[in-house]
Amino acid sequence: MINAKALKIGLPEDVEKILNTLKEANFEGYVVGGCVRDSIMKRNPKDWDITTNAKPEEVKELFSRTVDTGLKHGTVTVMMGKVGYEVTTYRIDGDYKDGRHPESVTFAEDVVEDLKRRDFTINAMAYNTKDGLRDEFGGISDIRKGMIRCVGTPTERFGEDALRMMRAIRFAAQLGFTIHRDTMAAIVSLAKNIEKVSKERIQMELTKTLLSDRPESVDLFVQTGLAKYILPELDEVLTSAKRVLILRMLKNAEATASVRYAVLFFDLEEERARKALRSLKLDNETINQACKLIRHQDEQIRLNEVDVREAMYELGSDFIPTLINFKKNVAKSRQEILYIPTGKSLIQLDMMDKMYRQIIARGDCVTLKDLKVNGKDLMELGMQPGSELGEMLILLLHTVLENPLNNEKETLLALVEGKLKEEDDE
Ligand code: ATP
Ligand code: MG
Repeated sequence: MINAKALKIGLPEDVEKILNTLKEANFEGYVVGGCVRDSIMKRNPKDWDITTNAKPEEVKELFSRTVDTGLKHGTVTVMMGKVGYEVTTYRIDGDYKDGRHPESVTFAEDVVEDLKRRDFTINAMAYNTKDGLRDEFGGISDIRKGMIRCVGTPTERFGEDALRMMRAIRFAAQLGFTIHRDTMAAIVSLAKNIEKVSKERIQMELTKTLLSDRPESVDLFVQTGLAKYILPELDEVLTSAKRVLILRMLKNAEATASVRYAVLFFDLEEERARKALRSLKLDNETINQACKLIRHQDEQIRLNEVDVREAMYELGSDFIPTLINFKKNVAKSRQEILYIPTGKSLIQLDMMDKMYRQIIARGDCVTLKDLKVNGKDLMELGMQPGSELGEMLILLLHTVLENPLNNEKETLLALVEGKLKEEDDE
């Protein structure tokens, strides 16, 4: 049983200092939101947010180094060394006319007012050493139950800000919690409102869900009806015959955005996947890497060093372990779900992984850059710059991929001379 009064949260030194400075100036100050939730759950808080009855101008006067992060919303960032802490004045959000942003914010006198505007009970707790935990909405009890529940009436809260619907699912995924029945019902009834939210914000919540320890929770986006408004392709793949396999593959996948998105869309045409990922405004690197995995997932690399080196050259050395892992995941997940025995291909992929590591450890040449001759050397033998010279270098590289011992300047130059002579004789 967690006793709210006796509960102690270990605060970082800088945070203690900020709270003390506020207290000495006769203001209230609490850490609030995610950091309180995570501390109680013995998870590592990502950042420590502070809430206070001091107005932004007053906060700025109390600390020597501050940044005006969001003065309109009452937020000042207080710099302690290199780390910034957001200090936000207690506030009440005004009407939400666009289903996402409050029209206005009013500063409040009482911390409870500030807690009331927060999305879920588990996120609506404040703490300081003097007062202990301020838990007005049953946050502790919901943490104990593993429950995501809106503060106040769910339909009202989701009506104010539609993004909260996705946040509910994201927190359920990250924390392993269940969404309370009434909160769930409100999401189902208001799902269409998610269209009011920007693609960037939608993407952030979807990505956090996919990167959580329970990425299979993306299924909740389909179950609530949100998916079809978030992204038609998301709904499509998770209502297809591949659903169970995709969910299992997500669980077994490396926790990077490119891999998890590639898994999600592994059964789509590459170009459709690219279009879907673009519409989510993901960064190009993630999109390209995900699409590369989708494109090459069925690439057959034979289990010998020459073919592995060739693949390293063609696909990029760094990509090979990612591809091997992806293929292992497909095989393993199929085995788990469909009872298709894939032991043999898993063993082969493990062997390939080992082979790849040996090639790396030996430092075999797998790129033009590592070839012991370059364009300049070939020009010294009388070749002209141009495509023929480029082709010659690639031919040399293939010789070296075939046999790394060939990567000696003398050997390669002799080979070029021989080739040039052959051509002259023709
Ligand atoms: P994370 O660990 O992902 O940072 P967090 O709980 O800190 O989780 P933030 O998005 O950083 O989430 O927001 C900090 C706090 O602000 C939340 O805990 C919650 O109290 C409040 N909050 C954030 N977004 C909303 C929202 N859309 N509606 C209501 N309250 C919100
Ligand atoms: Mg946070």
